[in-house]
Amino acid sequence: MTKSFGYAAPEKKATLEPFAFERRAVGPNDILIEIQFCGVCHSDIHQVNDDWGGSIYPMVPGHEIVGRVAEVGANVEKFKEGDTAGVGCMVDSCRRCASCEAGLEQFCAVHTALTYNGTEMDETTPTFGGYSTNIVVDESFALKISPEQNLAAVAPLLCAGITTYSPLKRFDIKHGSKVGIVGLGGLGHMGVKFAVAMGADVTVFSTSPTKEEDARKLGAQHFVVTKEPGALEPLASQFDFILDTVSAPHDLNVYLELLKYNGALVLVGIPGEPAAVLAPLLVMRQRNLTGSAIGGIPETQEMLDYCAAKNIVSDIEMIGIDAIARAYERTVKGDVRYRFVIDIASLKSIAANVG
Ligand code: NAP
Ligand code: ZN
Ligand code: ZN
Repeated sequence: MTKSFGYAAPEKKATLEPFAFERRAVGPNDILIEIQFCGVCHSDIHQVNDDWGGSIYPMVPGHEIVGRVAEVGANVEKFKEGDTAGVGCMVDSCRRCASCEAGLEQFCAVHTALTYNGTEMDETTPTFGGYSTNIVVDESFALKISPEQNLAAVAPLLCAGITTYSPLKRFDIKHGSKVGIVGLGGLGHMGVKFAVAMGADVTVFSTSPTKEEDARKLGAQHFVVTKEPGALEPLASQFDFILDTVSAPHDLNVYLELLKYNGALVLVGIPGEPAAVLAPLLVMRQRNLTGSAIGGIPETQEMLDYCAAKNIVSDIEMIGIDAIARAYERTVKGDVRYRFVIDIASLKSIAANVG
């Protein structure tokens, strides 16, 4: 077994606390990653709070993991000791179903082993995430990371990055596309960076007037404060694609109305409550309402390589693990600029003191 030390929520809505646990021994296809940085995704907060139901405790959150390969199993080909590796939202899947064969392991027909708040392929052994000192993972589910980039700022690419890159690619966003990004948080700011890099004309829809300057620095051409009465009216039927990253319940109809004929509103935010949709808004202009879940392993590697080539990383606020409760509070208030990342060295020093 491999000793690990993390921060865990012992029960629903609990404050995270120190948690010593064991991971499996490094198997022939596994690598052991000593974690250096882990991003704080709003999904971590939803799951600690059991917003989606079915949460498993104790829960060690964290699925934006970057670290150094400390050990490799006998059959490992992709990595050697000392390499930089990443882990996102999944650590395994059946690898045989049509989805897995298509590189869409997040839609595995049998079981997707989520990085935390899930189970291994035996559907029994709980998984523990990246707010921890190390992780053992099959090399097929580990990503290669360029050591040249700022690794703390690369960590959020493993979830916020792929979750926004994937739908932009699926809808063929390019020069001339008119794109809206709703919510300027962890996902939203990456959505802006990618849409700008792909050549789109980008509008940010935000509840926070104070984020306008940042949105423009990220490359967005337009910024709309959605709380201002009448702000959306002049924009009706103008957009090809709108990516909704909002974590809390809100009205989708106002964004459907902004789509052109055959345009698409893609939900990536996952509020815990249902949303009402006005059918005429979809019917009359053949608008599309759909969702998107992270991205498969091949596309995640493609996104990381794209980011390395274009020098795209996340804008981050680095914290020690002792500041995690405050980081959660600020994220829920929409006050994150634009991703908290935990420096895992802070956890290692606590682990050393605990012994
Ligand atoms: P985040 O950093 O907290 O950003 C969400 C943003 O939404 C906020 O910064 C805020 O932006 C806006 N917002 C918050 N509350 C709002 C409200 N009541 N009304 C309107 N706007 C509000 O969260 P994140 O980490 O980007 O995650 C966003 C959502 O995506 C979460 O639900 C998360 O679980 C989900 N997610 C999904 C996937 C997937 O695969 N589909 C992957 C990762 C995360 P403004 O201040 O600009 O308004
Ligand atoms: Zn996430
Ligand atoms: Zn499968």
